[in-house]
Amino acid sequence: MKLLWCWRCKMDVPMLDDDEFRKAKDLYSADFKKIKEDRFKPLLRYYYELTGFAETNPVAILHHKITLYGPPCKKCGKPYRTPVASFCAACGNIRPDENS
Ligand SMILES: [Zn+2]
Ligand SMILES: [Zn+2]
Repeated sequence: MKLLWCWRCKMDVPMLDDDEFRKAKDLYSADFKKIKEDRFKPLLRYYYELTGFAETNPVAILHHKITLYGPPCKKCGKPYRTPVASFCAACGNIRPDENS
């Protein structure tokens, strides 16, 4: 878990690493027969225990995955939004080509 800027939520949110996210995804897709509120309780509880953040929107958790956002911008520190972004959407900083 890592606190990162989410451009969708426009705030810092606890983002999950790959393992944590896989578990969250499992909890999200489990038991679709249950009524809506009950169905998402295990996911929201899991996220809360992991992050200490009382998220109420289960769908928001599904985009809070560290690797979806790419590395942090060297200028402003916010993530580049996607792993393949060529510039920072927050401050416009051009991302240096790390592969060359
Ligand atoms: Zn978000
Ligand atoms: Zn930036």
